[in-house]
Amino acid sequence: MQEVDFLLINPWIYDFSAHDFWLRPYGLLKLAGRLRAKGYKVYYLDLLDPFHPELPKVPKRNLYGTGHFYKETIPKPDFFRDVPRRFFRYGLPYSTFLKEVGNLQFKAVMLTCTMTYWYPGLFALIDFFAQKFPEKPLYIGGIYAKLCPDHLKNFIHLNYPWLNWEIVTEDVDSFVEKLRAHFEPSENPHFPPYPAFDLHRKIPYVVIMTSQGCPFSCPYCASRKLYPRFEQFPPEEIIEEITFWHVKYGVTDFAFYDDALLVNFERHLGIILEGLLAKGYKLRFHTPNALHARLINEERAKFLKRAGFTTIRLGLERVERRIDQKLTLEEFEEAVSALYSAGFSAENLGAYVLFGLPEEDFEGIKRTLYYSDRLKIPPYLAEFSPIPGTPLFDLAKETSRYPIEEEPLCHNKSVFPALKNPDWEKIHELKNLARVIRKNLKG
Ligand code: SF4
Repeated sequence: MQEVDFLLINPWIYDFSAHDFWLRPYGLLKLAGRLRAKGYKVYYLDLLDPFHPELPKVPKRNLYGTGHFYKETIPKPDFFRDVPRRFFRYGLPYSTFLKEVGNLQFKAVMLTCTMTYWYPGLFALIDFFAQKFPEKPLYIGGIYAKLCPDHLKNFIHLNYPWLNWEIVTEDVDSFVEKLRAHFEPSENPHFPPYPAFDLHRKIPYVVIMTSQGCPFSCPYCASRKLYPRFEQFPPEEIIEEITFWHVKYGVTDFAFYDDALLVNFERHLGIILEGLLAKGYKLRFHTPNALHARLINEERAKFLKRAGFTTIRLGLERVERRIDQKLTLEEFEEAVSALYSAGFSAENLGAYVLFGLPEEDFEGIKRTLYYSDRLKIPPYLAEFSPIPGTPLFDLAKETSRYPIEEEPLCHNKSVFPALKNPDWEKIHELKNLARVIRKNLKG
């Protein structure tokens, strides 16, 4: 039996699809790092762990640390009878979870949940702890708890009124301070206080956030709601963090989770990259969150190439009926041309095309895909998920065939929740077209 102060769990994902495209629970890992720095002993249980030795089948790994998760088919929620796809639970078998938890003694449990529509994974854990450890406090953070607090409260009040629990709304350092009033640390502080990627069985990549929030305010995005203030962290600290993971653990792949990585380039990312280049490291950087194409010019593109940027996604959104104000098509074309001149190839690049907006124009999406093809930048369809508290959520409420206000499951992007009558054949056709264009461009 292992004794710890806190048990931190990254839940299963219940969904039609899920992929380890540099997907880690950054907030939970940040909390783990800060708790250790105050002397708390933590146990981190990643229920998505693709390297767990007891997985019945080893998930395939891909380039740069990305890969698949282990999955099991489960019944599709009733809401989605009209969706012609199978539904899965991604992550460790339940029996493996029971074995892991059965070996632990802990004072409290900390849970997270990223997407609003992934809450069934969180609810399965709440149910387990409420039944088996009813006296242990539960702390619940993550995007779902922040955006849908009433949904979560209703579930717990209705089913487990005895539970001692709370939603974590404060920033991580204030939360840790609050815990200090209730729990004594049981060991010496552990430094550095970085997000605790070393608690994973393997570290195929590390996620870095050089900033929080975004200075823009697109009507479909949660960034403003989650982080009302745009804040960039000191470049020297980021250089130290990346150096730590590279030197101590040999990590070479780093994924930026920033929403606005290129803003204030000369005073921020430029300094970080110069600092790392000066150390002579050979690193690869990836931007699963789109970069702002408007902020890429020839000089910056060359700099990004020299510094090791390997996967770059740009936010194209769409060619017609554009709804953001952050980009013109001319700026997009200049950025793509600058990236190609700097030596990037179609293997490195990709453009996100927003798909599935209320009253979507499928022909317009097709034209956007062909536009992307002409520019030789592989298109990736980014299916629209309505996010509570955003202007487009209100619009989607009018057009959706689901009760998206009451039921977060129905925010799932794979079900095209903003469409009244999705034409699955056409959707399939467009997805296929995007796939063929990508394949042809990458050769
Ligand atoms: S630029 Fe990106 S991160 Fe910023 S508000 Fe728009 S979609 Fe969100």
